[in-house]
Amino acid sequence: DDVANKIAAGEVIERPAAAVKELVENSIDAKATSIDIEFKNGGKTFIKVSDNGHGMRKDQALTCLEPHATSKIRSADDLESILSFGFRGEALPSIASVSKFTLLTKPEGAKVGTSVSVRAGKITEIKEVAMGRGTEIVVEDLFCSVPARRKFLKTDNTEAGHIIKMCKLYALAKNDISFSLRENSKLIFSSKKTADLAERVKNIFGEEISEKLIPLAPYSGFGISVSGAVSKPAESWTTSKNIYAFINGRPVECRAVFSALKDAYKSAMPQGKYPAAFLFIEIDPRFVDVNVHPAKREVRLKNEFAMRSAILAALVETLENYSI
Ligand code: ADP
Ligand code: MG
Repeated sequence: DDVANKIAAGEVIERPAAAVKELVENSIDAKATSIDIEFKNGGKTFIKVSDNGHGMRKDQALTCLEPHATSKIRSADDLESILSFGFRGEALPSIASVSKFTLLTKPEGAKVGTSVSVRAGKITEIKEVAMGRGTEIVVEDLFCSVPARRKFLKTDNTEAGHIIKMCKLYALAKNDISFSLRENSKLIFSSKKTADLAERVKNIFGEEISEKLIPLAPYSGFGISVSGAVSKPAESWTTSKNIYAFINGRPVECRAVFSALKDAYKSAMPQGKYPAAFLFIEIDPRFVDVNVHPAKREVRLKNEFAMRSAILAALVETLENYSI
């Protein structure tokens, strides 16, 4: 019901970037190959995410706004090994309960699409629209119905920073999807589909980082595969801001990964100087607990030792070759 939705919204959607994250994950789950994101005022007044994914029929467009309407879990078993990003079925109803929300969607083969408008959790209009295959969601005045939450938002600039970082992470993680991100119609970045990591890093983060990257020799062991690229620590990088890890295509913050990285660099990573690192880790999803907090990127591992060992093994040879 309405109250439950607003409570859920406060928990899952802490800030505009969390709404963007949920929408982008849904587009990825819908097998989109192109995702375009736009926002204004740090996402407080306007967020739009459009994709060319599989879209929804009218009945699906209506049920997806009801709590726990996920189409992504079929049995209790799936919970353990779920690979898709979404599995709780609460993001859309949560966001819609605290904003002016518009969903436009059309599946393959349908003549027309469906547009559903929601105001603070109540459907106010359903109509047919002409559009291509895919889904477009517009979220205006996020938290308009929960002033307490709205008060906790930071400045537009800070909230924008969170959105931009989030989008860059997903753009980096998904090399088979092209992304664009715009703030007030100004292009922040756009990335094309490419398996070339350095090319993607260049498009998303810029040349300063991409030109320093050394590719990792792909490594597989301990039930884990690791690939990606790293750099030597740079004088000007005084924080870990250029260190990114992805587990099964999901950007994560994982203590075991970071400490293994530090160990691999040992004395080559003196205090206050950090490398860039983009680590793509594949592991049996049953060994990762993605459910620690729905809105956070922290993950827990069932076997931290295996993760540390795999990362060390993956890095050591490469770092030696480049005398790091
Ligand atoms: P979850 O992702 O956990 O299933 P959500 O509330 O995020 O829950 O989404 C509810 C449902 O709406 C999804 O399971 C999916 O069927 C549908 N959906 C949401 N976004 C999209 C999209 N961009 N394209 C196609 N279907 C979508
Ligand atoms: Mg979802």
